[in-house]
Amino acid sequence: MPGFFYGLTFSRMPITLFPRLSVGNTKLGKILNWNLPARVTCPGKSEYCETVCYACTRLYKYENVKESYKNRRKARNKPGWVNDMIARINASETKVVRIHASGDFDSLKYINNWNKIVQGCPGTTFYFYTRSWVVENLLEPLKKLAREPNVFAWFSCDRSMPVPPKPANVRLAYMSMDDFDEPKYKVDLVFRVKHKTVRKRMGQYSSLVCPVEQGVDSKVQLTCEKCKICFSNYKTNRQPRNLQNATVSNRGLRALFVHV
Ligand code: SF4
Ligand code: SF4
Repeated sequence: MPGFFYGLTFSRMPITLFPRLSVGNTKLGKILNWNLPARVTCPGKSEYCETVCYACTRLYKYENVKESYKNRRKARNKPGWVNDMIARINASETKVVRIHASGDFDSLKYINNWNKIVQGCPGTTFYFYTRSWVVENLLEPLKKLAREPNVFAWFSCDRSMPVPPKPANVRLAYMSMDDFDEPKYKVDLVFRVKHKTVRKRMGQYSSLVCPVEQGVDSKVQLTCEKCKICFSNYKTNRQPRNLQNATVSNRGLRALFVHV
């Protein structure tokens, strides 16, 4: 249930006027995340992703959630934001940050600010999915951010987009719109939006489906916090160990599409 955020309880919480990061949602588990308004901050949004964007529906539609994302959009351009984020992240006991469960990188300055934040938090792992790689002047800064040793980067794509580049340190995540939409090129992970079948792998390169969307029995209660594929060096050519013996059931086939 994205949008159901818990307040942070830092023992050494810096007292500032800047907005906080959020902690977790049903898919993520307790992972810190920083969000901006979807669509307006997504220069690489695709014909398809816009139509199914989870960050534009459900709880994300509540005025208080929308307002908090707008505040974050304003705050990230103010002097002091980078240092505030570094202080907050370093003070947190949660050592994984997802950059954008909603929104995307929309300017060179903003990407460079994230470079400074990840460099200032060497004990924290960061990960992001982005479609902003389609914007010519943002591709190189994104590749630079992906090269940071504590960053895991994913270029998101779907069949309405061109084939993405595959720089070093970047993996590809394909958004499949339905059971017939299979990636026609090699990708590292597949997210399924609308699906009625149980699938562990898809496409001619047999790309791994995000375990949450494979159709694994809902009793498994998998979260990103437990799975870790997206923020580790996990090789997606094998099935996650904790799911190898899991049963599959259509009950688990619930779309949990969150900005991929
Ligand atoms: S592969 Fe794992 S970490 Fe990545 S989105 Fe799916 S559940 Fe989360
Ligand atoms: S799916 Fe991602 S890129 Fe597309 S509109 Fe939503 S937040 Fe933006």
